[in-house]
Amino acid sequence: LPEGVPPPSEEHLEVLQNYFGHSSFRPMQWKIIHAVLQKQDNCVVMATGYGKSLCYQYPAVYQRGVTVVVSPLISLMEDQVMGLQALNIPACFLGSGQTNKSEVYHNMFDGVYRIVYVTPEFIDACSGILEDLMKKVGIMLFAIDEAHCLSQWGHDFRSSYRKLGTIRKSFPTVPVLAVTATATQTVQKDICSVLKLRNPVVTVTSFDRPNLYLEAKLKNKSILEDILPLMVRDARGNYSPDGPTIIYCPTKKITEEVVSELRVAGMECEMYHAGMNKKERETAHHKFSFDKVHVIVATVAFGMGINKPDVRRVIHYGAPGSPESYYQEIGRAGRDGLPSTCTVFYGPGDDRLHRYFISTLNSEEFREHQYAMLRKMSKFLNQTTCRRIAIISHFTAKIDKTSPRKDCCDNCTNNLLGGSSNKKAPWLAAALDKEDKYDFTSEAKKIFETVKRCSNCGSTSLIYILRGSKCQRVKPHWMKMPTYGAGKDRNEAFWKELIQMLVHNEWLTESLVSCGQQWGRGRGRGRGKADFMSYSAIGLSQAGYDALKD
Ligand code: ADP
Repeated sequence: LPEGVPPPSEEHLEVLQNYFGHSSFRPMQWKIIHAVLQKQDNCVVMATGYGKSLCYQYPAVYQRGVTVVVSPLISLMEDQVMGLQALNIPACFLGSGQTNKSEVYHNMFDGVYRIVYVTPEFIDACSGILEDLMKKVGIMLFAIDEAHCLSQWGHDFRSSYRKLGTIRKSFPTVPVLAVTATATQTVQKDICSVLKLRNPVVTVTSFDRPNLYLEAKLKNKSILEDILPLMVRDARGNYSPDGPTIIYCPTKKITEEVVSELRVAGMECEMYHAGMNKKERETAHHKFSFDKVHVIVATVAFGMGINKPDVRRVIHYGAPGSPESYYQEIGRAGRDGLPSTCTVFYGPGDDRLHRYFISTLNSEEFREHQYAMLRKMSKFLNQTTCRRIAIISHFTAKIDKTSPRKDCCDNCTNNLLGGSSNKKAPWLAAALDKEDKYDFTSEAKKIFETVKRCSNCGSTSLIYILRGSKCQRVKPHWMKMPTYGAGKDRNEAFWKELIQMLVHNEWLTESLVSCGQQWGRGRGRGRGKADFMSYSAIGLSQAGYDALKD
């Protein structure tokens, strides 16, 4: 047990057993529950599967009065209420979609329910009802589930969550418990400040998900070439996954494409995205949850509220936009603790799509932040060192230095099995000699030299210069540069990979430059809409400058 926390009493263990059927608390659960019972505020970041709900459900049954839980989705609340009813713990939810409203309100003010679930919008619009509840029954705790939604530095910002700061003002004596599975230190700070937590007990469990195997692969030419090799083929030639599988796609259109290709290949799958109506989405979710279909192809709309414990594989067909959304999405795999695999297929076009999403954001500061996250994600995909350590260190400075395991990610498997770690960059790898070493200094210097003279250029222009291109986009003064044509001996793919490698190793910098909007470039439906125009400008980092001086 953490220091200063007394062990749970016999009585606590009995209540735990009687209501929840568990024989003991997990160490961090008890620490949090103990603090809640002491009326302290809590900020909790707890890995998926650890048991967040018990942290507010237990105090709700142990104490008198009622616990109010703020949750982002009605479907999530329905699931939780059903689960509690099965345990004989009276609970309800308030909000649109509630059918027998008057009966629920009557029971609630009679003190029948131990737990009342509400949406953040309800708190904002109906605070009078909660004030009555406080007077008549007494509210013992406010629990804010998925608390990362209140921070725009997180990955699922909702403005209605931002208003939850009013709880502290309206109910100054009631302790607040904020819980989430994903929050960087910045997001944790934001949670504490928005909710005005008083001297909160902060608990962060490990971000390690040791049963997940992480891998990243470059996309092949076609969807089927990428996805089918991960599937099992039966005697009749049909493909199926080796367990429940979620395939995340960055857009509705790509989701539809993947579904239709997989179906043509004889694979059964369901689709889920925000363009479908509620009924269609529910049917798809239901079929997947109850194993009627083993593959669901979805956008991130298929997110919170998926409690399927035995998802064996999460595939990203297209790079995720940030390490947080990646971590949240792979978090849906292997909640039962059994080995599961997370595969990202990424390609050069993926960033462009995310840059478009970023360009539509309002605040400059937020755009910068999201762009930094996008770069971090791209670095993660291209790196040749342990992915598990990389993702853990994104969230926390404290990381357990366990030795590499060949079952944690593709890079560790390759390195431990003696494979080449450069398979991600075939053109650079081809330049390596037999000893697996090649000195790229002279090529790197040509790039640095070009970047120095060419501020705000993207990598394509740099490559035009290095290869001495005569295409229209080459400006006359570029042709006078000493490095114009100095890299003719290497092909375009080589230079592209080397520039990316130098960016990832921080010799070069990359920043988002917007160059206005262009109208009507698209064909068909997109015609006439603003087309996104921005690119990544390459610059020299301090290390790059220093290298030029040597
Ligand atoms: P989370 O929301 O953190 O992903 P849940 O609250 O859904 O996790 O709990 C995950 C699983 O762990 C559930 O099946 C739950 O019954 C189980 N669990 C939670 N607490 C305990 C405990 N103290 N002992 C045994 N099992 C537990």
